[in-house]
Amino acid sequence: MSQASNDIRDPRAQVKQWLASGDLRSLLVHAASLHGHYCPGLAFGVKAAHAALRRLGFENTGMEELVTVVECNNCFADGVQMATGCSFGNNALIYKDLGKTAATVLSRRSQSAVRVCLRPHRWEGDRATELEREANRLFTKVVKQRDPDPEAQRRLGEVFRRLSFATLEKEEDELFDIREAPAHFPEYAPIYDSAICAVCGEEFMETRGLVRNGRVVCHTCAQADCFGVLGGGVRVLPGGNW
Ligand SMILES: [Zn+2]
Ligand SMILES: [Zn+2]
Repeated sequence: MSQASNDIRDPRAQVKQWLASGDLRSLLVHAASLHGHYCPGLAFGVKAAHAALRRLGFENTGMEELVTVVECNNCFADGVQMATGCSFGNNALIYKDLGKTAATVLSRRSQSAVRVCLRPHRWEGDRATELEREANRLFTKVVKQRDPDPEAQRRLGEVFRRLSFATLEKEEDELFDIREAPAHFPEYAPIYDSAICAVCGEEFMETRGLVRNGRVVCHTCAQADCFGVLGGGVRVLPGGNW
C-alpha cells in the first residue's frame, strides 16, 4: 500500500512515523502549518509531546484513548496538540488555566500518565545565548510593544525559526522536568441532545438552553454570561462579550 493511501486510512500515519523515528523537525514544520509561525514555544510543545508519547505509545485515533492536559494557552499548546493528536475539537485536550508551560499526557491503554514541565528558561543575562537575547529584545519590541517596524518583524521571524529548530537538538532532561503523574481520567466527553432556540432558530447543545418568558432560548439571545478562553485565560464574558 502506498504512503498516500495509508495516510487516508490512518490520518496520523505520517505523524506517528515522525514520532517513532524521532523526526522532530518534520513535526515542527507540520505544527507550524497550524500555528502560522516558528517559535521556541511551538518547539517546546512538539518536544514535550514527543517525550511523553515515547513513554506512552504513539497510537491515537482522537477518540480520547489519549488525553492531554495543557496548563497554558500559548504557542506550546499548538505543538502539543499537533504532536499528541489531542485537540480542542476532539475533546482530548483539557485546558487548565495555570499559566505553566506544562502538559500531562494520559493513556487509557496503559493506565499511566506523564507530565512534562519546561524548566525555567532565561532569555536574557549571562545564561542566555546571543540569539536568545536578540529574540528577547525583538519580542519585546514587536510583540509586547506592537512596534510595526517590518525589519524587526522579519528578523524576529528568522531568529525564532532558528531558535525553534535549535531547541529540537537540546537534551530532553535539560529542557524539561519529566515525571510520572496519576492516571486520573476525566469522564468521556458527554453527548447531549440538541435544542432549537425559540428566538433565533439556531440549534445548540441542550444543556446550554435558558428559559426566558417561558421559552427555551440560546445564550446569545438571552444575552447571558458565558465562559470564554481569551489570551489571558478563562474569563467570564458578561452578556457573551468582552
Ligand atoms: Zn508561537
Ligand atoms: Zn438564539
